[in-house]
Amino acid sequence: MKDIIDGFLKFQRDAFPERAGLFRELATRQAPRALFISCSDSRLVPELVTQREPGDLFVIRNAGNIVPSYGPEPGGVSASVEYAVSALHVSDIVICGHSDCGAMTAIASCTCLDHMPAVAHWLRYADSARVVNEARQHKTPLERVQSMVRENVIAQLANIKTHPAVRLALEEGRVSLHGWVYDIETGSIDALDGATGRFVSLAAQPHVCATPASHAHAA
Ligand SMILES: [Zn+2]
Repeated sequence: MKDIIDGFLKFQRDAFPERAGLFRELATRQAPRALFISCSDSRLVPELVTQREPGDLFVIRNAGNIVPSYGPEPGGVSASVEYAVSALHVSDIVICGHSDCGAMTAIASCTCLDHMPAVAHWLRYADSARVVNEARQHKTPLERVQSMVRENVIAQLANIKTHPAVRLALEEGRVSLHGWVYDIETGSIDALDGATGRFVSLAAQPHVCATPASHAHAA
């Protein structure tokens, strides 16, 4: 804990004064451009990977970068999604999985989670990804996990589309969805190309998008 408090003291001494103007501006309002949904994993830091400053990203993090489908009893993730889209009017939503994900590894390898009932229950929201992944052939256990990570991003993109606020924003062409997988060792990102259903290098194809905000009211 000492490291964390020392870090705060360093922030107050060095980092805060450098951004004093920004924080003054942000003191009473925020206008983030994107909702970023990622795993809680300590090795993926959204603001670092995307080089964003405070105020830029509205972030939801949980085990497995999961977005429960919308239902009659919406929870915290649903409330945060709704607020980001309906109140903050974000123009982009990124769902970002990552390599070596503990949650996805547990699912892909059918790890017994009886001793972690809350985790087991939470990961049920990735069931559609699990059954698709289990139906596939995988050469190695590593490949099975990597495939699970990608399928989970695809499944959560489907889940988030069940949220009324997101459906409306998509219908009105004011939000785009992005499905990313971050590789911890190389710092690279693969992104889902909605046109082909394949993951491609984001560095090579920076404009790739899972669902573009392009078909607003054609009629
Ligand atoms: Zn993870």
